[in-house]
Amino acid sequence: MNKFIFVSGGVCSSLGKGVAASSLGALLEGRGLNVRMIKCDPYINVDAGTMSPYQHGEVYVTDDGAETDLDLGNYARFTASPLSRANSITTGQVYDSVIRKEREGRFLGRCVQVIPHITDEIKSRILAAAREDPNTDVVIIEIGGTVGDIESIPFLEAARQMIHESGKTNAISVHLTLIPEVAGGELKTKPTQHSVKAMQEMGIQPDVLVCRAPVMLDDATCRKIALFCNVDPEAVFTSCNVDTTIYEIPIIFFNQKLDQVVLNKMGVESRHANLDPWYFMMKKFAARNGKVCIGIVGKYMELHDAYKSVYEALFHAGLECGVEVELVKIDSSGLEEKENPGAVLETVDGILVPGGFGQRGINGMVKAASWARKNGVPYFGICLGMQIMVMDWGRNVLGWEDADSTEFNQDSKHPVVSLLEEQIDVKNYGGTMRLGKSETMAIEGTRIYAAYGNRQIWERHRHRYEFSNKYRKEMSESGLAIAALTPDGSLVECVEWPNHPWGLGVQFHPEFKSKPTAAAPLFRDFIAAVKERKMGGGPAPR
Ligand code: GLN
Repeated sequence: MNKFIFVSGGVCSSLGKGVAASSLGALLEGRGLNVRMIKCDPYINVDAGTMSPYQHGEVYVTDDGAETDLDLGNYARFTASPLSRANSITTGQVYDSVIRKEREGRFLGRCVQVIPHITDEIKSRILAAAREDPNTDVVIIEIGGTVGDIESIPFLEAARQMIHESGKTNAISVHLTLIPEVAGGELKTKPTQHSVKAMQEMGIQPDVLVCRAPVMLDDATCRKIALFCNVDPEAVFTSCNVDTTIYEIPIIFFNQKLDQVVLNKMGVESRHANLDPWYFMMKKFAARNGKVCIGIVGKYMELHDAYKSVYEALFHAGLECGVEVELVKIDSSGLEEKENPGAVLETVDGILVPGGFGQRGINGMVKAASWARKNGVPYFGICLGMQIMVMDWGRNVLGWEDADSTEFNQDSKHPVVSLLEEQIDVKNYGGTMRLGKSETMAIEGTRIYAAYGNRQIWERHRHRYEFSNKYRKEMSESGLAIAALTPDGSLVECVEWPNHPWGLGVQFHPEFKSKPTAAAPLFRDFIAAVKERKMGGGPAPR
């Protein structure tokens, strides 16, 4: 039988609930348990796919092509939880399926209500995800939003019912709150008391409290919180601000015995804890020597979350290559009018153009790619970033001034990036792109082949447009290397610049599979090339 852990949050958002839930997942995996992470999102969108990155940050794509909340990216970086469409439950999906069933007459004339129909749908989705992999021992369900929000009530009610039905040791509640510091440095527990009261009003007594605080809480404060909130003193934990990396949080929780207390509450016999991968990763963190600056030339620069997985993957690559990676966020629109983009770009050691949609800033990205190509500066293009390389090659090597993607210019005489036949008549925006895991074949002797050490590559896609095969011959004859294709040879998946330290673009998104304990191969080789060019030191570690 599975054990369920419901992770909720109170007081305010952005307390690091996703990282806390993921860190708990990592600790339980360290105890040899199979963990499955689920995110419940109270918004009415069916998935995150149609939301602007400004609104909601990055869209995380799973193997089976679900466009999900960025918290699933945290789960992927901290745990080995299988991640599929089933791991992301939104109010939109829940209502969508309940309303469909109602239209099909499946409720046999009954009045359809939030309780029990919506809550039953939530519960059955949680159970379905839990059963998807028969080896799952523990299911951690993170409930988005803050207790007290109207939107999250059905999810908390579903959690209450599951805790009630499963019995005390089979389902527990972990609640995350804030302990603010007021003038004079005093820590305040009252917001936590109110937050736990709000949980109790929902019928849930938290078993474990994780308090986000500027410093570690002392014993007296923990005892006070425990007394007022009805929890055991040893079940009050601190999630303090870290000045190292968020990946130290599993160790910080381990030192406070979070996993031990959770195992006790669930009646699971204690097993030997193995946190070696995390200690090893922190050793690498401390051993970094020197720094490289990576210019991210994109469009959603103000919001860090918009390119979250890309930034994390760069950090992972830095760990593997032994350097700190400083991110320099460059708004591509700002480069458009610049005579000499070098004035801005000279300050960085490597350039990365990430994925994106829409016309704004595109010409600035082409300028950046062109500059990197001509100046021998390492360049990594992801999805749109690869399409930008193709546009630059068309415009500036083949001399087709209007070379473009039909996403941005339908009238170009040189549509070097264009829609696949099957995408031309697509009218619905949700879930209709080329999405999810697919196979790529690398060509031997290329950089991508060297990075993966294999011909066969499995990565995830999220795009509509493709390198146009009409131009494949001219592009490759003029020197742009076609380095990887789909197995049937019909689509170009990777291009590389010739005679260049490292200039590579891929149509897929390698950032989704990067981990602090195992950097994605292309990110690792990109940072290794940047480091090599800046400070020497040999090729990428393997
Ligand atoms: N807008 C481009 C496309 O749809 C690139 C998408 C992306 O970078 N994810 O093909």
